[in-house]
Amino acid sequence: MPSVVIIGGGPGGYEAALVANQLGADVTVVDRDGLGGSAVLTDCVPSKTLIATAEVMTDMGSAAELGINFHDAQGDAATSIRVDLGKVNARVKALAAAQSADIEDRLTRRGIGIIKGLGRLGKGAGRGGGEVIATHPDGTEESVQADAVLIATGAHPRVSPTAQPDGERILTWEQVYDLTETPTHMIVVGSGVTGAEFASAYLALGVPVTLVSSRDRVLPGEDADAATVLQDVLERRGMTILGRSRMQSVVRDGDTVTVTLTDGRTVTGSHCILAVGSIPNTAGLGLEEAGVQLDDGGFVRIDKVSRTTAPGVYAAGDCTGGFMLASTAGMAGRIAMRHFLGDAVQPMDLKQIASNVFTSPEIATVGWSQAAIDSGEIQADVVKLELQGNPRAKMQGIHDGFVKLIARRGSGVVIGGVVVGPRASELIHPISLAVAANLTVDQVANTFTVYPSLSGSVAEAARRLHQV
Ligand SMILES: Cc1cc2nc3c(=O)[nH]c(=O)nc-3n(C[C@H](O)[C@H](O)[C@H](O)COP(=O)(O)OP(=O)(O)OC[C@H]3O[C@@H](n4cnc5c(N)ncnc54)[C@H](O)[C@@H]3O)c2cc1C
Repeated sequence: MPSVVIIGGGPGGYEAALVANQLGADVTVVDRDGLGGSAVLTDCVPSKTLIATAEVMTDMGSAAELGINFHDAQGDAATSIRVDLGKVNARVKALAAAQSADIEDRLTRRGIGIIKGLGRLGKGAGRGGGEVIATHPDGTEESVQADAVLIATGAHPRVSPTAQPDGERILTWEQVYDLTETPTHMIVVGSGVTGAEFASAYLALGVPVTLVSSRDRVLPGEDADAATVLQDVLERRGMTILGRSRMQSVVRDGDTVTVTLTDGRTVTGSHCILAVGSIPNTAGLGLEEAGVQLDDGGFVRIDKVSRTTAPGVYAAGDCTGGFMLASTAGMAGRIAMRHFLGDAVQPMDLKQIASNVFTSPEIATVGWSQAAIDSGEIQADVVKLELQGNPRAKMQGIHDGFVKLIARRGSGVVIGGVVVGPRASELIHPISLAVAANLTVDQVANTFTVYPSLSGSVAEAARRLHQV
């Protein structure tokens, strides 16, 4: 029976473990912090649980338009709805811990070995098999032999010497769930996906927010039309967005946090979240010694089937950079194991990855981008339909958002799309399916949608792309 050792128990690691076990391998997972990894314990699951509360608050904010008014026990108009952040965060942590326990339980029931500790490559690793050394929390070591090793160690928040988190008021995204009191003014540094999500969430929770963005607009890596809609909505709801503003330092003085910008301006608040990127967890693993090449940022170099440059060593997930998503980590881990164990493998197709920014409104994307068309990289036709014109959106009081569909010129095959709106993460799926299955705009247009529905806009966009 071939043996596999996986270092790291996040989605890159545990999904791989399940597939390798299914394919008959003897599997051991070495994990430091808990099954589910950062995805479950500190990043994806906690942030989306916090955002679930923020979504309810957003809905309540627009309730009056739909004829709902809030009253107190005396029948007087209630002027505000408040969030108990201590309660919210307790729920977040309990849910994350329960999900981690579920995953551990699932792996254990399947007979997958779990070693709690720090893993690193040992003798022979990188030569088609070898040793993994696990250091237990009490400092003792255990050696495990493996025919193949998967590195799935993830990444951690980047911090700078001039902006050191203290876990109380200057926070990484991993530390925000320790807050028991609602901040009076949250400063979010960084306007990428993580920064935008937290800024949007705290604003919806009723906290005044200042977003410090080093670029012209929020979400510089996303569809420009989508980012513009989000920026407009956030500013309309009262967020201060400082564009072209680079953080120089963050300092705490008692209950106050001051962010100093490189041009000398300062912003003062009660708390600050640092969301300025991630560093791969690739140091101290014995990778270079085993012949595993890293890029300049310290990320493991892999090919389309998750092989590193060292025989018998695979890597998956955030430690390899690229699309840093739980879904891609899981896919890369499964591909690695299928490849090693001789099962049918479909290499990862980056043009099929669907992703979502969980702001309010959400922004979901799949396939080729508008930027690629504008730069001439690909010839395609684009139709963008505002949700305002959709009957269901009118009924639900949805004013912001759109559906954008991208089709290859000539064939009319759907090659990409963007959805901006509530639950865009759900609405992107028909477009993802079309992209994955090479469906034409006519096939999408001729598929029944429910009336009235937001997905009707996907079919309508496809109809408008009909080529005569
Ligand atoms: C705030 C935030 C929100 C996010 N939201 C989403 C989302 O909504 N959807 C989405 O798809 N993605 C989301 N992501 C990204 C997602 O969390 C990551 O892409 C995902 O966690 C990557 O999985 P992974 O298995 O590579 O690593 P991780 O989940 O980081 O797991 C790695 C594991 O390896 C362990 N480890 C590290 N070094 C060692 C070692 N030497 N020995 C043993 N164990 C070790 C770590 O402790 C950890 O348990 C979010 C990220 C952030 C920061």
